[in-house]
Amino acid sequence: MAIDWNRRTCARKGHVTYAPDDPRLRIRLHGDTALGEVWRCLRCGDFVLGEPQGSGPTAQAPLVPRGKVLRDLLVLRFLAFERAVRGVFIVLVAVAVWKFSNSQDAVHRLFDEYLDVFRPVFQHFHYDLDHSPVVGTIQKAFGYRRSTLLTVAGLLLAYALIEIVEAVGLWWAKRWAEYLTVVATAAFLPLEVYELTEHVSAVKIGTLVLNILAVLYIAVTKRLFGLRGGRRAFDEERRSDSLLEVEEKAGALV
Ligand SMILES: [Zn+2]
Repeated sequence: MAIDWNRRTCARKGHVTYAPDDPRLRIRLHGDTALGEVWRCLRCGDFVLGEPQGSGPTAQAPLVPRGKVLRDLLVLRFLAFERAVRGVFIVLVAVAVWKFSNSQDAVHRLFDEYLDVFRPVFQHFHYDLDHSPVVGTIQKAFGYRRSTLLTVAGLLLAYALIEIVEAVGLWWAKRWAEYLTVVATAAFLPLEVYELTEHVSAVKIGTLVLNILAVLYIAVTKRLFGLRGGRRAFDEERRSDSLLEVEEKAGALV
């Protein structure tokens, strides 16, 4: 089923009307009804009752993203949101690692005390805490050197920063952000595959699939790296999709 992105966006953000100076174009966008004057929305093409929101030279008309361009914009916003959430989460993990590196000994003592308290309880349920993999992992963390932990915190922070910069740039549909996302995401793919060979989880598989799709989707639809005609073809597609352009061409034929 095809989704009408234009109408959906108009329902959410309202219509966009504009009265161009060019009378031949003006007449194609304007109408008079018993209820008053109507202007065509530059996004969904519907006639909207009332004064136009703006007027002036055709060249200064707002370039309203429509159809496929609009859909791509919404997909980018979803990716931006996903990256922002991931970025903030990783910042929190980095802060936790950094805090842990500062009070490693104190946390270690606390952990051992808790272990002593809970050992009999777990023993009652025939669970051997001293040989549990979770406890083993935590105890291994206490063995890490402070410098190692700080390096890990620093790397996590750097990674989070990349994700957040991507999120901001993608939200505003910046071309540099699309390049950054494709390059940085593709660069981490081998690491994600390696992670899967160590331990398989649904979240890891989901992230990997999403990242592969994101790289392909952005590179192809945004025509990065000269794909499908590159930048020039992308700008051309964007312009030729605008309602004014469509109407102008139709007007030229008449
Ligand atoms: Zn509309």
